[in-house]
Amino acid sequence: MNRSDFPILNEQVYGKPLIYLDNAATTQKPQLVIDALSDYYNRINSNIHRGVHCLSQIATNEFEMAREAVRQYINAPTTQEVVFTRGATESINLVASSFGRTYLRQGDEVIVSEMEHHSNIVPWQLVCEERNAKLKVLPFNDRGELIINDLETLITERTKIVAVAHVSNSLGTVNPIEEIIRIAHSHNVPVLVDGAQAVAHCPVDVQALNCDFYCFSGHKMYAPMGIGVMYGKAQWLNEMKPYQGGGEMIKDVTFEKTTYNDLPFKFEAGTPSVGDVIGLRKAIEYIQSVGLEKIANYEQELLSYTTEKLSQIEGMRFIGEAKQKTGVISFLVGNIHPYDMGVLLDHQGVAVRTGHHCTQPIMTHFAIPGTVRASFALYNTIEDADKLVEAVIKAQRMLS
Ligand code: PLP
Repeated sequence: MNRSDFPILNEQVYGKPLIYLDNAATTQKPQLVIDALSDYYNRINSNIHRGVHCLSQIATNEFEMAREAVRQYINAPTTQEVVFTRGATESINLVASSFGRTYLRQGDEVIVSEMEHHSNIVPWQLVCEERNAKLKVLPFNDRGELIINDLETLITERTKIVAVAHVSNSLGTVNPIEEIIRIAHSHNVPVLVDGAQAVAHCPVDVQALNCDFYCFSGHKMYAPMGIGVMYGKAQWLNEMKPYQGGGEMIKDVTFEKTTYNDLPFKFEAGTPSVGDVIGLRKAIEYIQSVGLEKIANYEQELLSYTTEKLSQIEGMRFIGEAKQKTGVISFLVGNIHPYDMGVLLDHQGVAVRTGHHCTQPIMTHFAIPGTVRASFALYNTIEDADKLVEAVIKAQRMLS
């Protein structure tokens, strides 16, 4: 599907055609996103929102059109609730820091799940330490599915927020976030959803979900690196303290007192990455031109096919066997260390990820050092899957 739109897929590694299966780490970029970046720097580079001159106005217009494209993409009610950041990590840090400094008091509680990426654990740990609050953990079962029944008992009147991944980057599990949000809201507890592994793989509607915050990175959805989004309900964002101080986020500054800008600018201190924002819009348009439903179905086919083929390999052990998964396959083969497997796959041109994938608690749960992870994007093919399987078999032979 649309492979020719991605120039990097014609590259070779060690003289072999590149089989890129590390899409959960970052996706490759279609030509129109690459072109949008050079076009921005060739034609309209200038600082936004503050300039009266022509280029500044064009750049501002393009920047705000991108915000509107993001709003539509996730069906946010208004662009005031769409804040640009550097990525999912910064989005979550923003919420943890600002929400924490506004609402967390000594003895309060924050709930995260056992399958979170470190970027949805550590920011909460930091703010909990600062505010003398407690971090509680919603566990998952051995298939890699959250034990939702435990949520009711974990939530107390001290719980201030639940932060959970839409899709796990290590297990591929699609979490029942609608249910999590429903339970949390029934106790008046807001929910942050880490959508880093979801936005490029399934339709996301923040109004239908009714989540309070939704965070994601552009680079995992065919957009440039260094750009991300924090969607937050205005009811929270209006009350929350700013994350960073600086230009753009203020209305008036005196040495005695500063008043803050309206949303979303209150949370966008300093010069943003304008070219990358424009690239993000192009990536969204690209995804929409293919169709998210189509992408989701196609990646499900790749997932089933590859899982079935890999399962025939002797000693194959899957880490993450949830009923609802995206195109992420984490596995181990016999006693082979994931790093050794990764290196041998690489030498055959197959790029996968090995290690703990920034989810050490998941590795602790399964008492393993890490996994080999293959993850799909819309440009992967059945041939890529066959190459992976072939390469794993070859590596296994070489190592035993
Ligand atoms: N959350 C999840 C589930 C992820 O997979 C990742 C990255 O792998 C992140 C957050 C952090 O994203 P970034 O490094 O783009 O900020």
